[in-house]
Formats: sequence, structure tokens, C-alpha cells
Amino acid sequence: MAEPVRLTFLGGLGEIGRNCACLEVDGRILIIDCGLMFPDLSMPGVDLVLPDFSWLRENADRVEACVLTHGHEDHVGALSYLLRDLSFPIYGSTLTLGLARSRIDEQGLLDRTELIPVLDGERRWIGPFDVEFIPVAHSVPHGFAIAIHTPQGVILHSGDWKIDLTPVDGRRTDLARIGTIATTEGVRLLLADSTNAEEPGHTVSEREVGTVLRGLFAANRRQRMVVACFASHLHRIQEVADAAIESDRVIATLGRSMAKNVALGRQLGLLRIPDANLRDIEQIGDLPPERVCVICTGSQGEPMSALALMAAGENRWIKLSAGDTVILSSHAIPGNEHSVGRVIDGIHRLGADVIHSGLAPVHVSGHAKQGEIKTLLAIARPEYFIPVHGEFRHLTHHSRLAMEMGLPDDRILLCEDGDVVAITDEGIDFAGEVPAGYLYVDGIVGDVGRGVLRDRRVLAEEGVVIVVVTVDARTGEVVAGPEVITRGWVYAPEAESLLEEARKVITISLEDAAAQGSPDFDTLRRNVRQAAGRFVHERTRRRPMIVPVVMEV
Ligand SMILES: [Zn+2]
Ligand SMILES: [Zn+2]
Repeated sequence: MAEPVRLTFLGGLGEIGRNCACLEVDGRILIIDCGLMFPDLSMPGVDLVLPDFSWLRENADRVEACVLTHGHEDHVGALSYLLRDLSFPIYGSTLTLGLARSRIDEQGLLDRTELIPVLDGERRWIGPFDVEFIPVAHSVPHGFAIAIHTPQGVILHSGDWKIDLTPVDGRRTDLARIGTIATTEGVRLLLADSTNAEEPGHTVSEREVGTVLRGLFAANRRQRMVVACFASHLHRIQEVADAAIESDRVIATLGRSMAKNVALGRQLGLLRIPDANLRDIEQIGDLPPERVCVICTGSQGEPMSALALMAAGENRWIKLSAGDTVILSSHAIPGNEHSVGRVIDGIHRLGADVIHSGLAPVHVSGHAKQGEIKTLLAIARPEYFIPVHGEFRHLTHHSRLAMEMGLPDDRILLCEDGDVVAITDEGIDFAGEVPAGYLYVDGIVGDVGRGVLRDRRVLAEEGVVIVVVTVDARTGEVVAGPEVITRGWVYAPEAESLLEEARKVITISLEDAAAQGSPDFDTLRRNVRQAAGRFVHERTRRRPMIVPVVMEV
């Protein structure tokens, strides 16, 4: 009887982001990816969302290492938080480690880890884990699928992947190796990327974007070209650079992460841009527009990004005008459509032209669509299957695809964050749960918590009414006030009479309380809150936050 293996999902199953799975073999824990999630509109003021690491903290002494599939923030961005409490080595491709490194470095935590580069196809022991790193194509170079050869058979994790038969760097998803594993050892369990499980067909090759970009550069020969894309998408940046160089332009980067990643990509030999074609952004002002290409961040409409500042006419170096063509080589992530729309509006208002993925095929996805997903299932022929990396609907659609491919439904586990599965001789089944809620980060504070977010939503939607009153501690009689202060309920200078009425209503309720005998502090606070709340709602049908401040003398 072979020793059981366990798998615990701390994030990524039920949302796009904070991908993190933990594999247990022989009492040791291998972390597969450690990512963050960006907040949505329901999380005002939150900077980042992390996995709940309490289970890992409790088992800190058993953590062997972390292996990274690729360098996107939803896979590496939480490392700089986990490393505050834990210390472990991190394995990944050189580029992945380069991208992960900067956040860890910023937090001053590099001494808590060792970054160990691995090569395409490399297979090595990490403690009791026999780990193989299989090349996959994705929207950041040098991604891996990860095969772990365990006592319970091979667990294959696809990472974020797609099939690109003509990738920009020539590095294809190694389906042949996956096929070999399937026909020799067999794949006991497949964990695969669900992002595009609802999308029929196949993703278009990244190379096609290059062709479109070259065409656009040619069609706008006299224009200055400004292209926004993800700073980690080095393939795309290469294609933009190629189009620029072909049309005899120099290239300048704008945005901190763009400058950093272009430098990293060139240093690792992943980006081919000759020195002669690169300029600092300060040096392009004197050049005629047809000689210039700017590559910048902000393709998701992020408020303080290079592109957003340009669109608002507030960028120090680039003033957009009719002489500019701006390409958004991206697709708005759900939730960002509004910000992207506003940026596009701003650029138009300045007279520049905008080309986005709704107008021309200037973007392709980095994730496998249904055709590729089925191809992987056909080649890997897993005994068991767990869809990962997606919202619940993506996971559901992915499991349907697996069923279509002939996998019986008792071999498909629809897991969510926090689920633990045990892999034993008898099969694979649910084996418990661990805490896996959202950990909200605001500034450097670890956990903002749900209560704070609830308060923020009320404040944002309804405002606040603060009632300050001083009472005699013995009799409960009002000595001073009540003072009614508000932000976001009504605009006080124009609502003096309403505030005066509120003061009267609250005074009466306090007098009533005092008449019924000397009330205690909590009763007074409750009275003030109820009286103010009732009045505010009756008169304005609103429910702002009511903060009673009762002082005793
Ligand atoms: Zn991802
Ligand atoms: Zn990714």
C-alpha cells in the first residue's frame, strides 16, 4: 500500500487570483504558486487580497519549498507576505524568479528565501517531492506545467497555459512530454487552468498580434505610436519593438514596471531590442513623431498608470494630440471595463486616435480555450481531474468538458478554496477543509477584515452622521449639545434647518431618557443612535452610519 498524498487549496478555486495549492508527501508540504488578487469594487480602499495563510503558518515547520508555474502576480504576488512568517526556498524559471524577486526585495525579505532557477524539462528532488518542470506557452515567457511524481502517481498541474503552435519565442507547450508521462506512468490527477473554459475554439497564436501591430504601424506611418500592454508580457513587448524598429522608430518605455521588466527581459536575453533603438523617455521630446514609439503600462485603465495620466493630460513627458495613435494591446479584465473606457475617452478628447481590441485584433488570450482544454485532457488521459484557476462558473464548465471527454463524474472533483483532498490507493476524495477566506491588505496592515469593509461600503454609499452630546453623569440631563455633524448624508451648509430639527429630536429623546431615571452611558448612546437613525430615515429615506459620541461630566 502506497503512502497517501494530500492536496490543500488555499486560493484560486472560485476566483481569478491568489492561486495557491499545497501538496503533502511524507509529512512535508510543497507550495505550488503563491499569488494575490486585485480587489473589485465591493472592496473599497483595499490594495490587495491574499490567501488565508493560517494553515500554512500552523504547519510552518513542515513547509519544504514553493514551486512557481510562472511570474504573474496572481501566482507569485503573495510570496512577499508569506515570507514574513515563513522561510523556504522558491523554485521557478529564471524569468519567473526575476519577476517574483522585486516584490520580495521591496519588503526586505530576500534573506528569508533562496531563489533556485530550474530549466525547461528539468526534473529534480525537492525534499520528498520528485518535481518535473514542463514548458508551457502563456502570456508571460517561461511558464511551466508542473508534474509531481508521488507515491500515489503523477499529479500534473497545467499552470496557466495555452497551445501556441507558432509562439514568438519558439517555445511550445511540451505536449509530447505530457503524452509520454500519460503512456508510461499515467497521470493520476490533472489540475488544469479553467480561465477560458467557457470559450469555444482555440486561442489565436501570439504571432498574429505581431502581424496586426506591424500593419497598424505601417498604416500610421506619420503618427507617434503609443502602445499599452501588460509589463510582464515580454512577447507582446517584443512584437511592439519589432514593429517599431521595422518602421525606423526608437522605443521609450513609460511606467515603472515596464522599464523594470524591459531591463530584466533584455538582461536575460528574452527581449531583443538593440541599444541603438532604445531611448529614455526624457530624450524623445525633440524627435519627430514618426520616429517614436512609446511602450507603456496602464492597459487596464489603472488610475495612476502611465496611460491614465497621459489620457488626463497629466503625464510629464508625453502630451497626446492629433499626431498620436494609441494602441491598447490588451483586453479589459472583468471589472476594469469602466476605467478602460474612461481612459479611451480621455485620449479621444485630446484628439489622438485609439485602437483597442474591440476595433482590431491587437490582443489574444494567454489561456487555453475549449479546443485546447480538450486536447490536454485527450493527451494526459488523467484518472482523476480537478479544475483550478477560475471563478466557480469556469470550474463548472471545465468539469463539463472533462465529462464530454469521457471522464466519469465520480472522477471529477469540483473543489473550492479551503478544500483538502486525499489521494490514496482507493482513489481521490474530499478529506476536510482549512480556513481559506479572503485576507484584505490595505497599506501595510495585514488583515482589514470584513467589518471594516462593511463600514466602508456604508460610508461610501450613505455617509456618516456624528452626534456629540455632553450629559450630567448623575441626572442624565443634557449639559452641552447635541451637536450634529455629517459627511456624505446631506451637505451641511445647505441643510441647516434639517440639522436643527435633528438636534431637537435627539434632545427630546435624551430628556425622555432622563425623565425615566438616571440612565447609564450605554442606554444614552443607544437612545441617541435610535433617535438620530429614525429621524434621518423618516426625513430622507437614507441609512447613513450613525456615530453617537456621549460625554459625561
Ligand atoms: Zn493566472
Ligand atoms: Zn498567468
